[in-house]
Amino acid sequence: MINKYALTSFVSQLSQSIGQDRLYLDEPMSDHTTFAVGGPADVLVLPQSVKEMSLTIRAARNCDLPLMVLGGGSNVLVRDGGIRGVVIQLNKMQKVLACHERKILASAGYIMKDVCQFAQQNGLTGIEFACGIPGTLGGAVFMNAGAYDGEMSRIVSRVRTVNNHGGVSTYSAPDLGFGYRQSRFQKSQEFVVEVELSLQRGDTKEIQERMDDLMKRRRSKQPLEMHSAGSTFKRPPGYFAGTLIDQTGLKGLACGDAQVSTKHAGFVVNTGHASASDILQVIHEVQKRVEQAHGVHLEPEVRIVGED
Ligand SMILES: Cc1cc2nc3c(=O)[nH]c(=O)nc-3n(C[C@H](O)[C@H](O)[C@H](O)COP(=O)(O)OP(=O)(O)OC[C@H]3O[C@@H](n4cnc5c(N)ncnc54)[C@H](O)[C@@H]3O)c2cc1C
Repeated sequence: MINKYALTSFVSQLSQSIGQDRLYLDEPMSDHTTFAVGGPADVLVLPQSVKEMSLTIRAARNCDLPLMVLGGGSNVLVRDGGIRGVVIQLNKMQKVLACHERKILASAGYIMKDVCQFAQQNGLTGIEFACGIPGTLGGAVFMNAGAYDGEMSRIVSRVRTVNNHGGVSTYSAPDLGFGYRQSRFQKSQEFVVEVELSLQRGDTKEIQERMDDLMKRRRSKQPLEMHSAGSTFKRPPGYFAGTLIDQTGLKGLACGDAQVSTKHAGFVVNTGHASASDILQVIHEVQKRVEQAHGVHLEPEVRIVGED
């Protein structure tokens, strides 16, 4: 249970420093996640700069309120009771800060598709794999997002963060703790605010052709017309989650409007008005049946947050 006095005090501190128009009370997370489910966050804040982000973090800490950062909401499942405390979303931090030779420095809220397009326009190659990955640059670093043999770990050279005291640090690649869908930020209370990418010189036309080809492959295999968070489960060592789920006969398995996609068994989709609890039931049923049939435990890739 959140302390209402603490929440009021947080809102009054922040309205003075960053303005009321970027603070939203009881904001439904279904409007901010690609699953289109999830109850309200007590307060959603949209900082416009690293300074404002530090102010928000400090105010939340002073008021003893829990805090989380959201990018594009394309890899989170927010439970139906919503999120207690403060959610910071980085929608207003979408800038390319510098582009020199082979490097791009951009804010964490920059949308991945736009980062890829910017690289293409500047004749920089190496990030095409990510052109169909929804969400933000910061979210992609946090998740070490990857596709088609590419992964963020191969192109990220530096990351600037704000910690939960509002202090700023910079990390270079070896310190980022990257592994399969893993980064140091999953274990630390640090939030990514800027990312430097190191790419290679390439031909703009060839880069565009590669991105077009990858998007075509995605559209043909994935249920992009439906609400989802992409692959629901991580790839278990030695297997593909989607293949195991398909082999277990679970395509189309449903609870309410949550369903194992009939197009790609690795995706759980919201076909209409699913609740988070419907999606969780499908996830648990898939885990149970795959474990029974194959003895393999499927670990969710999707980050499950909030209260029932
Ligand atoms: C149709 C579809 C296709 C997808 N395809 C792929 C794919 O091919 N490969 C792949 O890897 N993923 C894929 N995904 C999943 C998702 O797009 C990626 O994981 C993406 O990188 C998440 O970015 P986001 O900004 O949306 O993060 P969010 O979903 O907002 O957040 C994910 C996690 O990151 C944390 N986070 C976000 N931003 C920050 C930050 N700035 N600092 C600290 N923590 C932060 C959040 O707290 C949360 O725990 C797909 C999703 C969809 C819907």
